[in-house]
Amino acid sequence: MRDVKVRFAPSPTGPLHMGGVRTALFNYLFAKANNGKFILRIEDTDQNRFVPGAEKYIKEALEWVGMHTDEDPWKGGDFGPYRQSERKPMYRQYADQLIEAGHAYYAFDTAEELTEMRERLKRAKVPNPQYNAAIRMTMKNSLTMSADEVKAKLDGGDPYTIRVKIPRNEEVRFQDIIRGWVQVNTSSLDDKVLFKSDGMPTYHLANIVDDYTMKISHVIRGEEWLPSAPLHVLLYRFLGWEKQRPEFAHLPLILRPDGNGKLSKRDGDRLGFPVFPLEWKDPATGEIASGYREKGFFPEAFINMLAFLGWNPGTEQELFSMDELIASFKLERVGKSGAKFDADKTRWYNQQYLRSKPNEELVSLLIPHLDKASIEYSSQKLVAFVDLMKERAVFVEDMLEGRYLYEKPISFDEQVISKKWKDTSADTISEITNRFEASSFDPEELNEIFSAFLKEKELGMGAVLPLLRVLLSGKGTGPSLFDIMAFLGKQESIARLKDGVQSLSNG
Ligand code: GLU
Repeated sequence: MRDVKVRFAPSPTGPLHMGGVRTALFNYLFAKANNGKFILRIEDTDQNRFVPGAEKYIKEALEWVGMHTDEDPWKGGDFGPYRQSERKPMYRQYADQLIEAGHAYYAFDTAEELTEMRERLKRAKVPNPQYNAAIRMTMKNSLTMSADEVKAKLDGGDPYTIRVKIPRNEEVRFQDIIRGWVQVNTSSLDDKVLFKSDGMPTYHLANIVDDYTMKISHVIRGEEWLPSAPLHVLLYRFLGWEKQRPEFAHLPLILRPDGNGKLSKRDGDRLGFPVFPLEWKDPATGEIASGYREKGFFPEAFINMLAFLGWNPGTEQELFSMDELIASFKLERVGKSGAKFDADKTRWYNQQYLRSKPNEELVSLLIPHLDKASIEYSSQKLVAFVDLMKERAVFVEDMLEGRYLYEKPISFDEQVISKKWKDTSADTISEITNRFEASSFDPEELNEIFSAFLKEKELGMGAVLPLLRVLLSGKGTGPSLFDIMAFLGKQESIARLKDGVQSLSNG
């Protein structure tokens, strides 16, 4: 295989969708797995769609998930610049080369003339009206005008575009690493604009020229670019670069959870999950779109989830660090069919990573949340706190559920009380409280006292345990009761139990 060099080539037209991050990830994994290079190129030829802040967002998103670039607009490299707007002077010569070789031509049609052409074709019931081999000879271009006329127009500064001349009725075939052989007849292609009247190349020309001059070996991108690939294959041929043409791999779409259509921002809003890696504030409207980072997802979980959207290792293993992904990733194991996004699975990944983190790390992640919630905690017991709370948490913030470990509950879970609090409960709880008070308060010992008490009184666990829990924590569920008591300590636990019995007896 040739030296592997891949590029992630987003357009800075807004926040990067998670599908874009997945494209970057598969490029990154493929590069790393093959000792290759991963570069970032900003495709900003469409100045009308440029959105301020989008480029910075892309950079930050890649940094957040830990994808390091070998060449990019900020660190540079031997093949720069890495923004297409800064490469502007490089493209024109290739458009001229194509004209020279008869593979492209000048087109002088005005916007009105183009609209008129489409209307005319529609009236003639042409299903897909476009500027192509069948109609180009009816239009105003250097194929239909005399050389003198063309020269006069160019010299006179008339606006023009440069269009590719797609051959009529020819099969274009290429092999896609994921899809196998792809074959398209050129009669379905149109004479795409390669160079615009504003002096900028279009995506198609710039993309080909850049991939060639940057020595890109593999183009790994979303399925939405598959229809453009035959044109790209032709352009490589027309420019005489066929031997250097990168290999193609078009990734499957990311689908809505029900499998019906492509996952969009609206689906995210409707189902309550982010579709962007980071939060994004629209600079024009001020509208905020939520991000995985701000929602409390770990980058490891986000990446692991994305990797499985279209790829699988062929084993049962589900948890993969970035290094493990690099070691296992193969483009051949990426599927053709759309990959369904699963919000629950995404949460599951986060939960797994949370559980696997050392308590000390969780403590430092938790502190800002405790501060924000104005919880008065003692630093020494924070490790014990996360140890108790982490089993049930999906996000670090979920551990605040255990704020009762630092604060006396102000109310009791109504459901537990209405179901479990009986006339005899005050006596029962008072008696066991006294026994607890007389003990050393070691969790083991508390457990033994509790079991002995149930046996002696011929009571079921369900008659006592939920009440003790709710008096101590206010809640119906949580970590082991005796662990909670040991955390609170004898004095606090006994006080809560006694106060609880009193308030319930009075109320
Ligand atoms: N600029 C294109 C995009 O925004 C890149 C397509 C490609 O990778 O060729 O997705």
